[in-house]
Amino acid sequence: MNLESLGEFGLIHRVKTLFQQGVPKGCVGIGDDCAVVPLDAGRRLLLTTDMLVEDIHFLRSGITARQLGAKSLAVNLSDIAAMGGVPHSAFLALGLPREIDGDWVEAYFSGLHALAESTKTALLGGDTTRSPGPVIINLTVAGTVPAERIRYRSAARPGDKVLVTGTLGDSSAGLLVLQSGGAASSADERLLARHLEPRAHLEEGQWLSSRPGVHAMLDVSDGIDSDVRHILEASSCGAEISLHGLPLSKDLRESAARHGWDPLELAACGGEDYCLLLTAAEDYAATLQAEFAARFGRPLYPMGTVTAAPGVLRYVNGEQEHTFRRKGYDHFAAHEPQG
Ligand code: ADP
Ligand code: MG
Repeated sequence: MNLESLGEFGLIHRVKTLFQQGVPKGCVGIGDDCAVVPLDAGRRLLLTTDMLVEDIHFLRSGITARQLGAKSLAVNLSDIAAMGGVPHSAFLALGLPREIDGDWVEAYFSGLHALAESTKTALLGGDTTRSPGPVIINLTVAGTVPAERIRYRSAARPGDKVLVTGTLGDSSAGLLVLQSGGAASSADERLLARHLEPRAHLEEGQWLSSRPGVHAMLDVSDGIDSDVRHILEASSCGAEISLHGLPLSKDLRESAARHGWDPLELAACGGEDYCLLLTAAEDYAATLQAEFAARFGRPLYPMGTVTAAPGVLRYVNGEQEHTFRRKGYDHFAAHEPQG
C-alpha cells in the first residue's frame, strides 16, 4: 500500500470500511468532525481526538509552550463546535523528549488550563511518556449536544448557500510570516497570532445549530478547498464558490501585497482557520446572515452555492472558472512541514 498515492483521506476511508460493521446501533463513527454516541433520550455524546506532532504541526521555536497548550485544546474544541456541541471533558496524552524542561511543561499546562477553564472543559485524565524525538500531544475531547441540533457533513442540499463564520487564509499567512523569519508589520503580527492562537467558534456553532435552516457544518482545518470537498463527498453534491465571496481580512490583504503572496490561494487552500463552514437553505440564508450579525457583531460570509453535480467543486470569477495550483492539506502528500 503506497501511502502517498492513497493519501490521508484514502487511508481514513479504508479504516472506515474495515470497521463499519462494528459500529453499534445509534452511533455515528468515522467520517464527521466528531463521533456521536447516544447519551439519554434527548442528548448525544460527541467524541473527537486530534494530535499535534512537533515539526509537523508546530516548530518548538515558533510557538510558546503556553500558546501550544491552548492551541492543542482549541483544535479539538473546534470539532465540538462543528457539531453544535458544548464541551464537557478532555483527556491528554503527552510524549515529551528529554530536553523538555519543567518550565516548558508548566507553561504548556497554564495555556491548556486557561482555555479549559474558560470553556468549562474538565481535564479528566490522560497518559504521559518519554518521546525519542518530537513532542507529541494528543487530546481527546468529549461534549454533549441535543440530538436534533447535531449538524452533519452529509446534510447539504443542492441550492443551499455556502457560508463561513470567519475570514479565511489568516492562519496560513501567519505560518508564512513565521517561516519567513518573523513579523515585519503589525498586520503580520496579527496574522501570526491567528496562526498561533486559534479560537474555536463554540458559541457560533451552538447558535447556528439551533437554526433549522442550517444544514451541513464542519470546521475549517485543512483549508476550504479540502473542507468543502468533505461536505460534497458526504452529501453527494457539488458547489460553486465565488472568488469574490472568499472573505479576506484587511491584514491578509495588506501582508499579501507586501510579501507578494496570493491572498485568494491562501484563503482557499491554506488550513487551520478553525472557523465554521456551513450550508443553509437558500430562502433562509439572508435572514441567517442578518441574525448572525446581530448576535455576534461580525458577518457570516456567503461564498457560494451547493449544486447537484456530485463531487464537483468549481471556483468562479464572474463568468470565468478559476483553478488553484495548490490543494488543501493532506498529511501524506509530499510537502513542507507546517510551522
Ligand atoms: P478533522 O479535521 O475534523 O479532525 P479528520 O480529517 O482528521 O477530521 O478525520 C476525518 C474523520 O476520520 C474523523 O471522523 C476522524 O475521527 C476519522 N479518522 C481520522 N484518522 C483516523 C484513524 N487513524 N482511525 C480512525 N478514524 C480516523
Ligand atoms: Mg473538523
